[in-house]
Amino acid sequence: MTEQNQITDTFGRTHDYLRISLTERCNLRCVYCMPEDGIKLRDKSHFMTKNELVSIAKTFVKLGVKKIRLTGGEPLVRKDAKEIIIALGKLPVELAITTNAILVDQFIAVFKEAGLKSVNVSIDSLIEERFNSISRRIEFQKVKKNIDLLIAEGFHVKLNVVVIRNVNEDEIADFVSLAEHQNVHIRFIEFMPFDGNKWEWDKKVSYKEILSAVESEFGNAAIVKIKDQKNDTTKCFQIQNFKGTFGIISSVTNPFCDTCNRIRLTADGKVKNCLFSQDETDILTSFRKEEDIEQLIRAAILQKKKERGGHRNFDDDFVEDMKNRSMITIGG
Ligand code: SAM
Ligand code: SF4
Repeated sequence: MTEQNQITDTFGRTHDYLRISLTERCNLRCVYCMPEDGIKLRDKSHFMTKNELVSIAKTFVKLGVKKIRLTGGEPLVRKDAKEIIIALGKLPVELAITTNAILVDQFIAVFKEAGLKSVNVSIDSLIEERFNSISRRIEFQKVKKNIDLLIAEGFHVKLNVVVIRNVNEDEIADFVSLAEHQNVHIRFIEFMPFDGNKWEWDKKVSYKEILSAVESEFGNAAIVKIKDQKNDTTKCFQIQNFKGTFGIISSVTNPFCDTCNRIRLTADGKVKNCLFSQDETDILTSFRKEEDIEQLIRAAILQKKKERGGHRNFDDDFVEDMKNRSMITIGG
């Protein structure tokens, strides 16, 4: 791959990590992601078919993409998810998935066949009633069981926890404790603003606050900083003698834009060059007309702003002005 073939933006950032949303649908209704009134479901024709999705993914690989993460909505509710995972597993990329784990037990063999080794699972509370209240469904037991199954089957499991003030901030230490005897990685994510999720500055629990909650429980001296991976959005730590690790994603208080290598492809075939950008590039319509989508992809990335999709910060103006999609229709 020559440098010329890569997808590079005007700030010299090379984009080799593609996140593909398989669907806007979900079997949960998490309060921070799915708007209260739900989302308008559209006809199937608006969304990429399996063949379109795989062909478009191949174009990205030709342009230097080395890692593909499947997301959504809930990627595993898509009827042809198995076929898509197997097909993408044949590409020369690291394949990963972010899921709520409800259907994971039906996919263990598929993940293995596709060579998928890393699974990120969202779980925002270890208290059953609270989990069910955040996700507005009654699936806690299933999720817990499937997380244990993934660990037992040897997958590298990361648990995503969106920390929200007065909702689950009191569970930070309990989550870190899961890593004492198990090789899991807990990732605390600052609550981010998206359309319809009632975000307020004070509802987010900051990186600093999360780390200080860990310090209060385990003591400053026991926390070891681990070297972060290149392009990683997570600042990683370990409690001394714990098997697993934990990390904090400070998307709001300290976004990781400098080293961003991510491109998002929505389920309806739009490229989003940043989670917070309002611009989208329609790849699917051009693909259907057999036009050159390589140029479109490059152009989309050349428009990428330096930070936060062009927003100076996440102040009240940003939230009021926000015409971004809801998270469920972007693909987190
Ligand atoms: N359904 C899958 C799941 O929940 O893991 C994949 C899609 S979900 C949109 C991807 C990730 O985005 C999840 O880890 C979720 O916690 C995170 N997410 C959704 N809304 C968020 C928000 N407002 N702030 C921070 N993270 C959010
Ligand atoms: Fe569904 Fe994931 Fe959004 Fe929760 S975070 S509503 S599981 S897409």
